[in-house]
Amino acid sequence: MSEYFFDYLSSLVKEGSVKRDEPMRAHTTFKVGGPADYFIVPGNEKELSEVIAYLNKAGREYMVVGNGSNLLVGDHGYRGCIILLYDNFNKISVEGDRITAQAGALLSAIAHEALENSLTGFEFAAGIPGTAGGAVIMNAGAYGGEMADIVESAEVIADDGDKVTFSNEELKFGYRKSVLQVRPVAVASVSYKLKPGKKEEIQSRMEELARERRSKQPLEYPSAGSTFKRPEGYFAGKLIMDAGLRGYRVGGAKVSEKHCGFVINYNNASASDIMDVINDVTERVNGHFSVRLEPEVRIVGEF
Ligand SMILES: Cc1cc2nc3c(=O)[nH]c(=O)nc-3n(C[C@H](O)[C@H](O)[C@H](O)COP(=O)(O)OP(=O)(O)OC[C@H]3O[C@@H](n4cnc5c(N)ncnc54)[C@H](O)[C@@H]3O)c2cc1C
Repeated sequence: MSEYFFDYLSSLVKEGSVKRDEPMRAHTTFKVGGPADYFIVPGNEKELSEVIAYLNKAGREYMVVGNGSNLLVGDHGYRGCIILLYDNFNKISVEGDRITAQAGALLSAIAHEALENSLTGFEFAAGIPGTAGGAVIMNAGAYGGEMADIVESAEVIADDGDKVTFSNEELKFGYRKSVLQVRPVAVASVSYKLKPGKKEEIQSRMEELARERRSKQPLEYPSAGSTFKRPEGYFAGKLIMDAGLRGYRVGGAKVSEKHCGFVINYNNASASDIMDVINDVTERVNGHFSVRLEPEVRIVGEF
């Protein structure tokens, strides 16, 4: 059965585009994570559609990933199919004040196109190390902006392999969430509506925000950005610091001293080390302040 599954899956994509037991540490910014049973890199939308339709028909578990910058995969890996769009879905086109990006395009590359075309609105996202697909799923945001402000629509591959368009309203964005988080889906592309602006001003805002990131965030260590969501009325990093957890460590993982909202992989951490820090921090902050932190990072697989 599993030979048949592998062979059939392989027949849907270019030769060599399906692997078995691919270590996920190579595909996440935390640099941890055990093997995915199957790892698929579709070459184009037709292949992606066929893969999605087949996996749904076969009742197999799957998950689409972008740059893995918000993902914690367990040390024992993922018992399903990971579909990676980062490599082949990175076309970006500009028409007037609308930018359309394939789901695997990096936000930094889209920001670059916005800048080159003197379009404003994307500056806040220039330094978020995710893809168009991952950012729409997460409603990624920073410095007062979020995807909900600029996304016009997203094209999603439905279970049967057909494409469906979700408008901004239909995406039901909330704080770090969208309707697309509810079940496995594949975002194929995202359209943004921006505004004409002044190139020098756009550039200077992007540079200012990049400086701000470098000065406040531990970008020199592998991480997944802010590990926890912002609890209403508080800042996760401040709660963690005030609970005395600055630098708190388990194995090779620790709460960053530079920014307590980041759990970092500072010395060959395992996914379990990171998970232990997340759990301990959650318990200790709850004990001190009766505030329950929730991970922003998506946690998948076996630990
Ligand atoms: C140093 C650093 C700084 C960060 N700063 C910020 C910040 O300022 N603001 C912020 O919001 N986030 C930030 N992040 C977190 C992260 O970059 C964002 O959440 C980003 O949007 C995730 O995009 P990704 O492509 O890496 O998604 P992944 O991590 O690959 O995936 C995240 C989720 O989206 C799903 N997904 C990804 N692509 C698709 C697709 N095409 N179709 C369907 N599902 C998909 C995955 O299944 C998963 O559930 C930061 C991370 C790091 C490492």
